Amino acid sequence: MFDVVIVGGGMVGASLALKFSQHGLKVALLEKTKLPVLVADTPVDLRVSAINRRSEQWLSELGAWQAIPAKRLCPYLRLQAFEATHSKVNGAELTFTAEEINQPHLGHIIENNQIQAALWQQFPPQLSVFCPATVLSLQQTEDFSSLRTAEFGEIRGRLLIAADGGTSQLRTLAGIGCNGWQYQQGCLVATVETEYSQQDITWQQFTEQGPRAFLPLPGAMGSLVWYDSQPRVKQLAALSAADLTQQIQQFFPEKLGQVKVLQQGWFPLTRMHANRYSAGRVVLVGDAAHTINPLAGQGVNLGFADAKVLAELVLAAVAAGEDPANSALLASYEQQRKNANLLMMSAMDGFYQLFSSTSPLLRFARKTGLRMAANAGPIKAWVGAYAAGLK
Ligand SMILES: Cc1cc2nc3c(=O)[nH]c(=O)nc-3n(C[C@H](O)[C@H](O)[C@H](O)COP(=O)(O)OP(=O)(O)OC[C@H]3O[C@@H](n4cnc5c(N)ncnc54)[C@H](O)[C@@H]3O)c2cc1C
Repeated sequence: MFDVVIVGGGMVGASLALKFSQHGLKVALLEKTKLPVLVADTPVDLRVSAINRRSEQWLSELGAWQAIPAKRLCPYLRLQAFEATHSKVNGAELTFTAEEINQPHLGHIIENNQIQAALWQQFPPQLSVFCPATVLSLQQTEDFSSLRTAEFGEIRGRLLIAADGGTSQLRTLAGIGCNGWQYQQGCLVATVETEYSQQDITWQQFTEQGPRAFLPLPGAMGSLVWYDSQPRVKQLAALSAADLTQQIQQFFPEKLGQVKVLQQGWFPLTRMHANRYSAGRVVLVGDAAHTINPLAGQGVNLGFADAKVLAELVLAAVAAGEDPANSALLASYEQQRKNANLLMMSAMDGFYQLFSSTSPLLRFARKTGLRMAANAGPIKAWVGAYAAGLK
């Protein structure tokens, strides 16, 4: 019998597996996909994340931050939002800087697979990894939860953590419903070479068709995110690299400079929130509990915040000789994380509506709002610190 069984070895699940095994718990991690082997010059992955200061601290405590190759880390010191009055011309703008909040940087842009690999590299030998594993069914009793797998038979644990992403099989097997919607839009993601050498700014231009964002990558590279209607995004994603480059030069702001597309893909935008965070001995973390509009790059940062809170509660319970899945603990976890996640999801939606709207009233509100925010010293510093995960 394991103390903790984690389903899903993505960034969030792997961080919890590592944390618990570092504290002497008997841990099993089930992952359905075999991890790719990363070598020193593995090409840049399409999936990248803006990792805030709080997540950086969580990964550092685990010893994983230090294992991410320095040349794959791109710090950003400035975060900028501006509106487009025409496709090229900038309107009102707002810039947050690390200096304003007395920090060396606001965060880093890092490839998801580098973070995941750095976590897996730290796994101690006593951590039992079942990979690739196919979960067939879940059974819950008063004393344990049990998973039947195609490859490894039955795996039992006192606490079962679902970290298996937005379409979580475990959430469904545990009978936890969720609410949410598919946004009408999708987003194209493209890795590009840039005319400019490594940049320290991430920016978003808001247009009536949706935001266009630049995330800096190490060296003269960047990741572009282009929100638009799903048909348009699919059409862009199907273009050749040369044709997509031409479209980007036409529709992104001039400050991007010349770019060359290296790879591209598209993602639907989904908002999902689980109705509750646990059922019996199963508890949800990360995207299994919530998926958020990627607009402000907060998804995995919220997931790491879930992981940190859950780890603290479980480790304290185990140290006190209590059941790691006791109902008071699971209620406390939900109470600490559900509202915080909901607040961020709703803030992102409000922001998204405000900036995508063609209503003259909302257009006026956002122009005025951006100008006021740019001059609102302490409030602006507070929002900057919140975006960096320091509040
Ligand atoms: C375009 C885009 C841009 C984004 N940008 C950012 C950003 O800048 N910053 C940010 O914080 N977030 C960002 N996000 C969100 C971020 O990618 C997610 O929040 C994050 O990947 C969630 O991590 P996770 O570990 O919870 O889930 P996942 O990354 O989905 O990992 C789940 C893991 O579980 C495994 N799994 C799934 N089902 C099973 C099963 N049945 N059995 C066993 N294993 C299973 C999967 O193989 C995977 O390894 C972005 C998302 C998108 C779509």
